[in-house]
Amino acid sequence: MRRSPFRPDLLQGKAALVTGGATGLGLEIARVLGGHGARVAICSRKEDNLRAAVDTLRQEGIEAIYGVCDVRRHDEVTTVIDDVLRAFGRLDIVVNNAAGNFPAPISELSPNGFKAVVDIDLLGTFNVSKAAYDLWLREHGGAVVNISAAIQYRGMALQAHVVSAKAGVDALTRASAIEWGSDGVRVNVVAPGAMSGTEGVKRVAGDNRQRTARNPLQRPGSTTEVADAVLFLASDAASYITGAVLVVDGGGWLTAPGAPDSPG
Ligand code: NAP
Repeated sequence: MRRSPFRPDLLQGKAALVTGGATGLGLEIARVLGGHGARVAICSRKEDNLRAAVDTLRQEGIEAIYGVCDVRRHDEVTTVIDDVLRAFGRLDIVVNNAAGNFPAPISELSPNGFKAVVDIDLLGTFNVSKAAYDLWLREHGGAVVNISAAIQYRGMALQAHVVSAKAGVDALTRASAIEWGSDGVRVNVVAPGAMSGTEGVKRVAGDNRQRTARNPLQRPGSTTEVADAVLFLASDAASYITGAVLVVDGGGWLTAPGAPDSPG
């Protein structure tokens, strides 16, 4: 295990839910939150992946459970959050990480393709946040961290559906931060750039070696670097931060052109 820059008991006593937590960044977020003391629930559609991920987390000493749901379905999400509350007795941290992505020019993007990504990324974030708020956060407070992207700040070819959905996630974050602040609920965004070795990068960019020179830090990030930003925003270290977007992309959105091979 790496030596984390954070205190190992930073989230001791807390419980977290990570959507899309069986793979890629979501699994690393679950690992980092759990590695700092939180009990962790993960959810998505594929039970085999969820089971394998929970086994991995438990082998690392993390108390982990899973629930099967499609984040587009509010009823399924509500059932999972009910189950998490029954198992852990609380839910302090919600990370909306589940997302869909594929490259397509607008000319070849069907209305259904566009809708599928908006439904998973934006409606899914709404469904999970709302269910968590209604069932727990309204009464007890907590932290929601929405995983967005950085490509919507400039726009990007082949990603019209994704930039539209992620711009919505950023906007929903600010609106819910305003509405829920008085209940002690903080809502923030982590906006990652391209992360080495993730499905997202492989699907959109293929080999991302060309990408390495395109941000000021001259390299792609790791999922751990992004998960550490989620940990910070989820923790009491960020107690006065809400409605914020923390871009974790090596500064890439400042300099990258909207090229088709820039993943998000
Ligand atoms: P990934 O490995 O493809 O993971 C996406 C996860 O979402 C999967 O575990 C998937 O599980 C789940 N999911 C998809 N549709 C779902 C649905 N309808 N209901 C419930 N779960 C669903 O993606 P990733 O590359 O790690 O990306 C994670 C997050 O970071 C996403 O929000 C993405 O937009 C963002 N991001 C990634 C990059 C990158 O470099 N990879 C860059 C910028 C932003 P099931 O298939 O089991 O449902």
